[in-house]
Amino acid sequence: MKGPLPPDDPRHGTTNGYGNWGCRCDPCREANRKNHQAYVERVRGTGQLTGEGVTHGTAYRYQMGCRCEECREARNKKSREDKRRKRQERRSME
Ligand SMILES: [Zn+2]
Ligand SMILES: [Zn+2]
Repeated sequence: MKGPLPPDDPRHGTTNGYGNWGCRCDPCREANRKNHQAYVERVRGTGQLTGEGVTHGTAYRYQMGCRCEECREARNKKSREDKRRKRQERRSME
């Protein structure tokens, strides 16, 4: 990671500032958020989420906006596993 960017740098508020420079100021975070949103919408528009041959039942797909039962279930399972893993990590530190 490069940076930090000087406060008057024109690259603030761009995905370049966020991604390449690792800047986490509000305008840079906002640019990144918008960019991610555009990406999600683009993927949605291609029909990858709902088209034929799509594998459902993954937490990733849920993240991409699919709310079918399989994807919801996968997401629930993942968050349960994450929680369990965290508990175990805590225990092994004691
Ligand atoms: Zn910035
Ligand atoms: Zn799904």
